[in-house]
Amino acid sequence: MTFSHPVKLKPGDTIGILGGGQLGRMLAMAAARLGLRCQVFSPDPDSPAFDVVLNATCAEYADVEALELFANDVDVITYEFENVPAAAAMILAARRPVLPNRKILETTQDRLAEKDFVKRLGVGTADYADVSSAVQLRAAISRIGLPAVIKTRRFGYDGKGQTIIRDGDDPDQVWKDLATKSAILEGFIPFEREISVIAARSADGRVECFDVTENEHRDHILKFSHAPADISDALAAQARGIAEKIASALDYIGVLAVEMFVVASAAGPKVLVNEIAPRVHNSGHWTLDGASISQFEQHIRAIAGWPLGKPVRHGPVTMTNLIGDDINDYEQWLTVPGATVHLYGKGPPRPGRKMGHVTQVGALPPKIA
Ligand code: AMP
Repeated sequence: MTFSHPVKLKPGDTIGILGGGQLGRMLAMAAARLGLRCQVFSPDPDSPAFDVVLNATCAEYADVEALELFANDVDVITYEFENVPAAAAMILAARRPVLPNRKILETTQDRLAEKDFVKRLGVGTADYADVSSAVQLRAAISRIGLPAVIKTRRFGYDGKGQTIIRDGDDPDQVWKDLATKSAILEGFIPFEREISVIAARSADGRVECFDVTENEHRDHILKFSHAPADISDALAAQARGIAEKIASALDYIGVLAVEMFVVASAAGPKVLVNEIAPRVHNSGHWTLDGASISQFEQHIRAIAGWPLGKPVRHGPVTMTNLIGDDINDYEQWLTVPGATVHLYGKGPPRPGRKMGHVTQVGALPPKIA
């Protein structure tokens, strides 16, 4: 079954969210402000999103009966992570509208399919090659050159499943260590900065982009974002145009994030697309306190069939992620004038685990690393 009629929720209706992490939690909180209920589906009993909803389903994504019961309880289904198993999405989509459309997952779960899709749109990416053996890796290296980045095609996030290959590295060993059957090799991009665009698209095809965000990673994990990005208006317009093109080509409903590199070229700086996230995104957390409408509210509005907002930024905004033991400083952050603290209610901090974030609106504050 497909749902050709557009979704139009009323206050009091229920949104099903697949995934119970902080993104699901912040989506549910935004929905609540608009008078909408959420039911969260997650296999993890300690899901931070469970804390903010009345109804939760704690079951595996392979549990067909649980999926069916969940679908029956809700009016529309969305997700907070891109690795939703295809079989689960299919079962749900037979019962309720799944937004963004589950077919989008096929493109964004596979780095090769994603890069091919972006290239077909005429949008720039790093040079890349499909690699499924050490022999192919050697061939790809001779075409693309070194340094290069090898990434598993599936299930990579926060730098997991990827390695930089440099001159002198042994491709056979790199391939063995990656322990995958399918990967892509990308040329290493000597970027000037990393940026992202958070875009929302409604069922009637309207797109609203937030101001371009500039991102800084530490150990492959996002540490700081600030908006607006320190780039020219023309480049920002180009970046937003790319995100809009991607959202429209996917016939997307909801919020997506497009991560991009800014690189120097003879004609001035240009942008290359690194990755598409079919969901709300960490680099858009500043919108919670730094704009009139957050990325979470935009997503809820889009999947509810409600009009999108026109987000107005309140000033320069910085977002600092509290990662692992950073969470131990939360009391200090609570005393910083102008800082808004968000804690995700997660269990013990582990290295690399996103535990919370802080937003600061106004003159860009000094960074606390
Ligand atoms: P990804 O998992 O693709 O989002 O990559 C995580 C981070 O690794 C990016 O935000 C970049 O900092 C870095 N990275 C990924 N791909 C490349 C590349 N082709 N060239 C240079 N840096 C990269």
